Amino acid sequence: MRPTLGYLFSWLLPRIFLAGLAIGIGVLAGALARAMLQLPLLAEFIASGVAVGILVFVDVVRCQRLLQWLRTAMQDPAPRDVGLWGELAYRIERAVRERDKTISSDRLQHAQFLSAIEASPNGVLMLDGMDQIKWCNRIAADHFSLDPQRDLLQPITNLVRSPAFVAFLQTGKFDEALVLPNVRGIGTLSVIVRNYGEGMRLVLTQDITAVERAEAMRRDFVANVSHEIRTPLTVLAGFIETMAALPLSEAERRRVLTLMGQQSQRMEVLVGDLLTLAQLEGRPRPTADRWVVLDDLLLRVENDAQALSNGRHHIHVQTDTHAELAGIESELLSGVANLVSNAVRYTPEGGDIDVSWRMLGDGSGELVVSDTGVGISREHLPRLTERFYRVDGSRSRETGGTGLGLSIVKHVVQRHGGELQIQSEPAKGSRFRMILPAIRVRQASEVSLGVESAMMHAVDVF
Ligand code: ADP
Repeated sequence: MRPTLGYLFSWLLPRIFLAGLAIGIGVLAGALARAMLQLPLLAEFIASGVAVGILVFVDVVRCQRLLQWLRTAMQDPAPRDVGLWGELAYRIERAVRERDKTISSDRLQHAQFLSAIEASPNGVLMLDGMDQIKWCNRIAADHFSLDPQRDLLQPITNLVRSPAFVAFLQTGKFDEALVLPNVRGIGTLSVIVRNYGEGMRLVLTQDITAVERAEAMRRDFVANVSHEIRTPLTVLAGFIETMAALPLSEAERRRVLTLMGQQSQRMEVLVGDLLTLAQLEGRPRPTADRWVVLDDLLLRVENDAQALSNGRHHIHVQTDTHAELAGIESELLSGVANLVSNAVRYTPEGGDIDVSWRMLGDGSGELVVSDTGVGISREHLPRLTERFYRVDGSRSRETGGTGLGLSIVKHVVQRHGGELQIQSEPAKGSRFRMILPAIRVRQASEVSLGVESAMMHAVDVF
């Protein structure tokens, strides 16, 4: 930028004034020397010496003040001055303040950037050219059991002893993620490495234990479904072959057809249960504003149970609960029906089956299905609600079970914000409790009271 005239004069004029003043004093000193010493050459020398001396002295003093300020941390304002030194001090101060501002905004940005990485759900670790840790977030430290402060500048290969990880870093080929099973004995870690800068490496870690478990469950599920469907299909194919190849008597033909009917029904039930599960997983959670009359639901359950039992058990279903449940009727029915059908199927002839409802102290309610059947030993209880988990496979299949019933019940209860609790003792019987939260439970008396008070209020108003 070209200096303007005003800008020039702002420091040039005081300087010319000062030079003029110095020359004036010098001339005075020269005249004095000439009068006193009568030596014209020396007087001129003294005159110019005094003038230059004054100028140099003034400059040294002002320069010294500026230098003094520059030598400090420059937190105080720069020395105020006029002319060239004033302008210089002002310009330097402005440059310093701007630099400070840029540094502190860079620092802030850096801190924000680090805290964003810190908040990442994945581990982030930076290595220098020697594979020493430059920085790592808490998740990466957790994944590799590191101390983010103490282990800084330590070679990572000294701290993470997994041979697979060390070899991975040494190969330098990072096209695919490295999967480390059993990290710290608990889970599976996926490690991605990328080169950046000059020989630096960025290590990203992700805990994929849940993903792996879900994938294993999916594989098991597909294998189980295939197995469950293949068995009746094989039986059906066998019967079809027999009927095609052999001339059967009327009695034999009827028997084969009955068996074929049973197998196709088994497949139908299985597909039905699979569809129910798929729907439960796909649908949004039931809202808490659609009320189902529990007694109607229990009446239907009782009829089905009596039909399934065919008079072999003493079945008692409480149908005067006067309770209402908020949720999806078909789901709640399927949940309770599965529990009652299990009770019938796993209780020998002559046993008791009881279905009852109880309000709990905190406003929640529980529907209890208990039986005096074969019971379940303790070690099976935690796995009962897994898909296709059966304690006694042959009994389950004989009685038309699919291994999906309790899984459906658990889903239904959880979708309604509740909990399924199971108590059982071998040879004594079982007790399944569906506990539903207070927000989804109301007694009919509460409803009628509500209506009554609303009516009273309406009467008051009129
Ligand atoms: P299934 O269709 O095989 O009955 P479920 O998921 O309903 O499948 O139940 C899982 C397993 O739990 C059953 O195979 C059975 O061994 C056991 N079980 C369920 N309910 C009862 C019960 N009331 N009494 C004894 N065992 C039961």
